[in-house]
Amino acid sequence: MGRFSNRVVLVTGGVSGIGLAISTAFAQQGADLILGGMMAASAAETLCAELVAKGAVACRFDDTDLRDGAAARAFVSRAEQNKGAIDVLVNNAGIQHVAPIEDFPTDKWDDILAVNLSAAFHTTAAALPAMRGTGFGRVVNMASAHGLVASVHKSAYVAAKHGIVGLTKAVALETADTDITCNAVCPGFVLTPLVAEQVRAHQEKTGLDFDKAGLDLIKDKHPTGRFVTQQQIADMVLFLADKNAGAITGTTMSVDGGWTAQ
Ligand code: NAD
Repeated sequence: MGRFSNRVVLVTGGVSGIGLAISTAFAQQGADLILGGMMAASAAETLCAELVAKGAVACRFDDTDLRDGAAARAFVSRAEQNKGAIDVLVNNAGIQHVAPIEDFPTDKWDDILAVNLSAAFHTTAAALPAMRGTGFGRVVNMASAHGLVASVHKSAYVAAKHGIVGLTKAVALETADTDITCNAVCPGFVLTPLVAEQVRAHQEKTGLDFDKAGLDLIKDKHPTGRFVTQQQIADMVLFLADKNAGAITGTTMSVDGGWTAQ
């Protein structure tokens, strides 16, 4: 019997990077998984089979584009029709674009706000009524160190991540009289496809090889001098999703190699 045996766990962007590490960790604890993300259905089917082999009681994939708020709500409704109330909602999907604000494309701003912030508003609003019905729920929002501090050329991302920290607090207050909690995880740099793009851009600028460029990119941010691992983020998400974490709500959990201690 795993720690999350038969718990219905929905992870947006659960098919790659940090989201996949989270999905895998829940699978290993016997969860019933619903995964969102942008992936071909056949590849997702293979991935789901692997997660079932690792211990998930079941795994369904849904390729909803979370830029569409109504579609995000429908994603949750479909999951509930199949599985009943969602026990753990992990709002993890996120995208990035790096450019000075004067050159920041408006469509990128809109997409980043939609996926990194508004999607969590829609999925949470849609999932809460059934959570209230069962009297239990855990909402974990993937914010970022950029939910607490800013960096240059990331205006949309920083705005969205600060926004999701605010949303986290508001949802926590509105559910405080129940065993539903809402918290945000604030990772530092984790080597995933989203960050690999920034490492490649830094490689072009510096001429360093990929590994050295990665460490050079994070050296001013992480006093540890190391990337945070996907597993370290997944461990934090499972900690917050646990039945015993009911007193932790409305807070931010930094897993950032010391970034925001500076
Ligand atoms: P990733 O690119 O590997 O994963 C992002 C996921 O979001 C993918 O599964 C993708 O399919 C999904 N997604 C993107 N656009 C979508 C859309 N329109 N509709 C539905 N799903 C969509 O990136 P990651 O680094 O694993 O990022 C996961 C989360 O962690 C993001 O919210 C990101 O902002 C946050 N984060 C990452 C880092 C880091 O260093 N990698 C640091 C702090 C926070």
